[in-house]
Amino acid sequence: MVNERGRDERQGPLTIFGPDFPFPFDDWITHPAGMGSIPAERHGEEVAVIGAGISGLVAAYELMRLGLKPVVYEASRIGGRLRSQAFEGAEGVVAELGGMRFPVSGTSFYHYIDMLGLATRPFPNPLSEEAGSTVIDLEGVTLYARTLEDLPPLFTEVADAWAQALEEVRCTDIQDAIRARDVPMLKSLWNDLVPRWDDRTFYDFVASSKAFSSLSFHHREVFGHVGFGTGGWDSDYPNSMLEIFRVVMTGCDENQRLVVGGAEQVPRGIWHHRAPRLAYWPAGTSLASLHSGAPKAGVAKIARDPDGQLAVTDAWGDVRRYPAVLITCQSWLLTTQIDTQESLFSQKIWAALDRTRYMQSSKTFVLVDRPFWKDKDPRTGRDVMSMTLTDRLTRGTYLFDNGPGQPGVICLTYSWMSDALKMLPEPVDRRVRLALNALHKIYPDLDIASHIISDPITVSWEADRNFLGAFKGALPGHYRYNHRMYAHFMQDRMPAEQRGIFMAGDDVSWTPAWAEGAVQTSLNAVWGVMHHLGGQTHPDNPGPGDVFADIGPIELPELLEEPQLGGWAASRVCCFRVRPLRWAALSVVAGAAPVLARSQSPDRRCDGRSARDGLGYILGPAHSGRVLLTEDQNEYVSSMLSRHA
Ligand SMILES: Cc1cc2nc3c(=O)[nH]c(=O)nc-3n(C[C@H](O)[C@H](O)[C@H](O)COP(=O)(O)OP(=O)(O)OC[C@H]3O[C@@H](n4cnc5c(N)ncnc54)[C@H](O)[C@@H]3O)c2cc1C
Repeated sequence: MVNERGRDERQGPLTIFGPDFPFPFDDWITHPAGMGSIPAERHGEEVAVIGAGISGLVAAYELMRLGLKPVVYEASRIGGRLRSQAFEGAEGVVAELGGMRFPVSGTSFYHYIDMLGLATRPFPNPLSEEAGSTVIDLEGVTLYARTLEDLPPLFTEVADAWAQALEEVRCTDIQDAIRARDVPMLKSLWNDLVPRWDDRTFYDFVASSKAFSSLSFHHREVFGHVGFGTGGWDSDYPNSMLEIFRVVMTGCDENQRLVVGGAEQVPRGIWHHRAPRLAYWPAGTSLASLHSGAPKAGVAKIARDPDGQLAVTDAWGDVRRYPAVLITCQSWLLTTQIDTQESLFSQKIWAALDRTRYMQSSKTFVLVDRPFWKDKDPRTGRDVMSMTLTDRLTRGTYLFDNGPGQPGVICLTYSWMSDALKMLPEPVDRRVRLALNALHKIYPDLDIASHIISDPITVSWEADRNFLGAFKGALPGHYRYNHRMYAHFMQDRMPAEQRGIFMAGDDVSWTPAWAEGAVQTSLNAVWGVMHHLGGQTHPDNPGPGDVFADIGPIELPELLEEPQLGGWAASRVCCFRVRPLRWAALSVVAGAAPVLARSQSPDRRCDGRSARDGLGYILGPAHSGRVLLTEDQNEYVSSMLSRHA
C-alpha cells in the first residue's frame, strides 16, 4: 500500500534510520512520555543557540519545551540554508535558494512540517510525473521523454548497471534492515562497508563495480549527468562513497516533495510556533515570544570564564554567560567569523572542524508570466520546454508550475562544484544571460526571455561570509572527522574545559545536504544539553545518548592496518592476547588500547557479543573465542599490543 506521500508502507517505510547511528529520532520526538526532563531548579535557565537555521531552531524549540530558555543568535536571517526568497511584487511566489526537495524518508524533518500544518507536493524531478516531460541534452544530442522507457536503451542500461552495482554492496539487504528497523542486521551490513569504502570515491565505486566495468566509458558519463533520481551526480564523483551509499540506501534521492510556499516556512514556523505542551513555560509560549520577536545578533566571540560558564559575545559587544552553548553554523566559521577560544575543543576536534569540505552551489531563478512551457509545439505535439538536464553550463533547469493564471518560476540553472564556480564572479543579470544562451542551444525556437517578469534571483552560498559553501561533501578518509564531530555530544569523558559546548547541523550530519541530517544532529544536541544540565530521559523513551554506546557509529582506528591480513577480521574494538602459537587464545581485555584489523575476507562473522567501555564486537571465522592466526597475523597483533603497552 502506498500512502499519499508515496511512501511504501508494506514492509515499513524506508527512512533515514542510520545507517551509522540507527536511532529512531522520529519515535523519540513523538513519544507520549516526552523527550525527557530538566531538574526543576534549572527551569528558565538560559542556554545559547548559535544560528537560526533548521538545526538551531529545532534544538531551541525542544529545549524550550524542556523548560529551558534558549537564546538564539543569528548573523543573517532566520531559516539559514532553508531560504525562500519572494520575487518582487509576486506575493508568496518564491525562489528556493537552499533546500528545496525533501525525501519523505526524512521523517523527523517531516514531523515539524506536519506540526506546522504545511502542505507539500511532489517535486518536479527529471522523468517524474510532476515534471510532465524531461529533456536530456548531452553532447549536442537532445532527447525528449516522459519516462525512462521513452529514452534510448543506453539509459536503461545505465539505470540497470547502477542498480546492479548497488547490489554488489547489498543495498537491498540494507534497505530491508532499515525498513524493519533491524539494528543488529543493519549494523553488521553497514559496519562492513565503512572501513572498506571510507577511503574510496564515488567514481571509484562506479568504475570498479562489476556492473559498470563491462560497459563503455560513455555509460559512466551518462550516469554522471542523469543518474540517479535528481541528476547531476558527477559533481559528487570525488566524494567519499560512504556518503553516496547513505543517500541511496536511506531513500534521500527518491520520493521528494517541495513545501508549498517555500521551505523557509519550516524554520520560521518553528520560531513562531506556540507550543501546546511544555515544561515550566505557559502553554502557547513560542521562541519568538521568548525573544521579544527577533533573535540576537550574530556571535563574534565564545570563551570560557574562570567560573566555567561559557561567555558569548554578540556583534554589538553584548556578553552573556551560559552553562551550555549549541553551535549550528558552518564549522569553518569558528575560525573565520567567531573568535573561538581554542581550548573549548580538543585538537582532534579542531582538525575535524577545519577539514570539513564544502560543496559549492549556485542557483539562478526567474519569474515568468505563466507556465508557458506547457504550450505544445505544433510540429511535434511536445511541450515547448521541459525539465532539462544537460552537460552545458546550466546542468539542471527546473520548472515550477504554480497553477493556471499564476506566474511560474524557472530555476534556470542549479549547479554544483566547478559548474557553480563558473558563475561565481558573475552578477545576476549576466548569470541569467549565460543560462538563456545555453538553453537557446537546446530550445532554438523558444524565446524564454520574453516571458520573464520581475527581477531575477541568484545565490552562490560560497560567496556568503556566513556560510562559505552550500553543504558538506565528505572526501575519502573523512569518516574519522565526521565521527569526531557527530559523537561530540557524548561529553562525559571529556575534560571539564571542553564540556558544555555542543555542535549540530549539516556539517555534523552523516547525511549532509539533507535537512533531515541537520535535524537529527540537533536532537542529539538536545539530549547532550539535557544530560549536561542534570536532566534525563523517561525510561520508556530512551534518547540518542542513552543508546549511543551500544549502537553508535563504528569507530575506525587511528592506526592503519596491514592490508594483507586475511582470514580474520575485527571491527569496532577488539583486544587480543596473543601467545607465540598459531592458535591464539582470544580474550577481551577491559581498558586495553584498541587493536583493530580489517580484512576483505567475505566470511567474517560477528559472535554477537557486545560490551562497553573498550570492549566491542569480536569478529572472526571462529565463534568459540578462539581464532586461528597466521604467522603474519600473530606477529601483527603482537606488535600492536606492544605498541599500546
Ligand atoms: C543549495 C542547497 C541545496 C540544498 N538542497 C537540499 C534539498 O533539496 N533537500 C534537503 O533536505 N536539504 C537540502 N539542502 C541542505 C539543507 O538546506 C541543510 O542541511 C540545512 O538547511 C542546514 O541547516 P543548519 O541549521 O544545519 O545550517 P544553516 O541553515 O546554515 O543554519 C546556520 C545558521 O547560522 C547562522 N550563522 C552563521 N554565522 C553566525 C554567527 N556568527 N552567529 C550567529 N549565527 C550565525 C547562519 O546565518 C545560518 O542561518 C540544501 C542546501 C543548499 C545550500
